Amino acid sequence: MNINKVAENTCAVDAGVFGVRGFTSVYLLVGDTLALIDSGSPKSTPLILESINSLGYNPKDVTKIILSHIHFDHGSGAGELLKFMPQASVYAHYSGCKHLIDPSRLTISAKKVFGKKIEEWYGWFASVPKERIVPINDGDIIELGANYKLRVLETSGHAKHEICLYDPASGGLFVGDEAGIYFPEASAIIPASPPPDFDPDHNIETIKRLQALRPEQLFFAHYLTTKVVDETLRAYIDILSSWKKIVEGALNEGLDFDAIVNALIIHAAKVLKGIERREDLHAFIRDHHIPMCANGYIHYFKKTRQK
Ligand SMILES: [Zn+2]
Repeated sequence: MNINKVAENTCAVDAGVFGVRGFTSVYLLVGDTLALIDSGSPKSTPLILESINSLGYNPKDVTKIILSHIHFDHGSGAGELLKFMPQASVYAHYSGCKHLIDPSRLTISAKKVFGKKIEEWYGWFASVPKERIVPINDGDIIELGANYKLRVLETSGHAKHEICLYDPASGGLFVGDEAGIYFPEASAIIPASPPPDFDPDHNIETIKRLQALRPEQLFFAHYLTTKVVDETLRAYIDILSSWKKIVEGALNEGLDFDAIVNALIIHAAKVLKGIERREDLHAFIRDHHIPMCANGYIHYFKKTRQK
């Protein structure tokens, strides 16, 4: 177990997705009742239950599982967690709800990106009964207590079904994957740009919208949290633009996929150096995450050039 108290009412539980420790956070929020932000994968369920118990709470008291988005590493475990959380409902962006009920299309699309690794990394995508889903949309308020409310922000640069959650009382902002992959050990950030929905320009617009809230603290789905908000969000805009230029230039030159991945690895050299000691994480980012990001940018250019 790897649990961090990251704010007054908030603990980060390591969901252990991809077999990499210290990379995927599920947040336990303690208000009048308990809520989770994200579920990890079905393989994360025992770890999450054990973590909640070890903090002195009962998983049966969780009433809300709020999904930042429904990619496998964040939403595929919600259906499994529900079996142990009889009072809980799953809150997700309205456009993703049909995939929670029937994850088959999402599974096909994820297999295209990750191949057989799907089973090894996640297990499967546990479906969620329709009557236990609450569709949410931009501007909705999720109540966790008398003075504890989260505002839903639709932020669809990373995925169409991505949301961020803002707590105006504390200034906390849960950014899911919308603000990239943050490495607390290196205070560094790199894109989270998977196909098929990623749109760098739209993602930059959503980051500007998040900046305008002037949040005090960012809570990342990957990984943990920072109070260095301005600098981190500005760095994210910079790297989203830089990678866009790199991939666009490479495509114009007719370079192949491996050459594009290499160019991004070179650009990320400083970040990769910062996590060198974490061998499993370093290898995952270099061998799987950056190629997936390259795919997301290439897919974006294919879509925009077809228009
Ligand atoms: Zn994602």
